[in-house]
Amino acid sequence: MRTLIKNGTVVTAVDQYRGDVLVEDEKITLIGTSLDMHADKVVDAAEKYVLPGGIDVHTHLDMPFGGSTSADDFESGTVAAAFGGTTSIVDFAIQYRGQTLHHAWETWMKKAEGKAVIDYGFHMIITDLNDQVEDEMDALVRQGVTSFKLFMAYRGIFMLDDGSIFKALSRTAKNGGTICMHAENGDVIDVLVQRALAEGKTAPKYHALTRPARAEAEATHRAIALAEIADVPIYIVHLSAAEALEMVTEARDRGLPAFAETCPQYLFLSYDNYEEPDFNGAKYVMSPPLRAKAKQDQLWRGLAFNDLQCISTDHCPFCMKEQKELGRNDFSKIPNGAPGIETRMSLVYDGGVRAGRISLNRFVELTSTSPAKIFGLFPRKGTIAPGSDADIVVFDPNRTVTLAAKTLHMKVDYNPYEGRQVTGATDTVLSRGRVIIENGALVGRAGSGSFLRRATR
Ligand SMILES: [Zn+2]
Repeated sequence: MRTLIKNGTVVTAVDQYRGDVLVEDEKITLIGTSLDMHADKVVDAAEKYVLPGGIDVHTHLDMPFGGSTSADDFESGTVAAAFGGTTSIVDFAIQYRGQTLHHAWETWMKKAEGKAVIDYGFHMIITDLNDQVEDEMDALVRQGVTSFKLFMAYRGIFMLDDGSIFKALSRTAKNGGTICMHAENGDVIDVLVQRALAEGKTAPKYHALTRPARAEAEATHRAIALAEIADVPIYIVHLSAAEALEMVTEARDRGLPAFAETCPQYLFLSYDNYEEPDFNGAKYVMSPPLRAKAKQDQLWRGLAFNDLQCISTDHCPFCMKEQKELGRNDFSKIPNGAPGIETRMSLVYDGGVRAGRISLNRFVELTSTSPAKIFGLFPRKGTIAPGSDADIVVFDPNRTVTLAAKTLHMKVDYNPYEGRQVTGATDTVLSRGRVIIENGALVGRAGSGSFLRRATR
């Protein structure tokens, strides 16, 4: 099977040029000008960008949380990702207390199998660390699960103590894995939550008011310090607070391998959304919470100057009906998370590139190349080059769409950006050489995505 993508502008993290791209079976085999060999399929990309498929390294599909399960499974979630121009995800498998990592891995492999439309990998969430689990970390790294997520919040569910965190970091220093950290001071937050509830403060906005920026900054600083002592890189997930970014910047200025991602919601939404009337603030209940609008410029600066390396989504949708509603009388019972897997590329292109905050190359780097490099997928993914997987997005920089839950494909009954107009949208999407999105329709099929065995650092 040969596909020829003609007349487009190829954009990678470092290049931008007019070129045709030849795809044979699953790979890109040739790039040139005016290629005219026979192809089974020709895609006209005139006036459009030819981008490496987006890579979203932070999603939660089919994830149980607080008595609910995130509304997208591996089929609806990866279909939505594909519509939005994302061709690989790295989701999270969860080890619950008393379970082995292997059991968790098998459980999540089953959730994805036969359902995913695009390729997928897993980070492993460790909630219970002992000698046997440390040995299992090595085994998972050998099987291509080369990153682990730890929590400094949610005591009794996910949270690990500093000693365990340090042990896990030390283990990855030896086995080449990477620790991803949810950095918030959970114990302090728990006290603030109990105080608020005791004072009768139950509305959604108190979710944000009990998770101060400094609690994120403190944990970010501590996480980086523990990694420094263990002499290993660290990756901070969903960084939302400018105060936390300052900790990352300070560490990087000292030459430490500290990495961090932020998410579109922290760039385009703010604390003000929690003040929306009725129970609407619940739509934005996620951890860490949305922050003050005035601080967003600092995150953009971090993205532009490479103190933040990736933009992922933390896609974790819960419907308002029957799910978010669980916390109508108690903000602490609102399932944490929001949808975003489908809207990332358009939002960041529109609000980042078109708004003059980041370059087109930087857009590709933040949404594809840099996540591929940090998480062991490069150069198989994350660029347009001969030998790379043909994960390709034909992106129309001039098409304007209005974001709405009704027309998006995520299986959730609201959208945090409802009514927002964005310019820049996905046209055609190839996943390992197969066209999966064409003319606004899904032509890929469930189960065609493969598990991604990722490399070590
Ligand atoms: Zn998450």
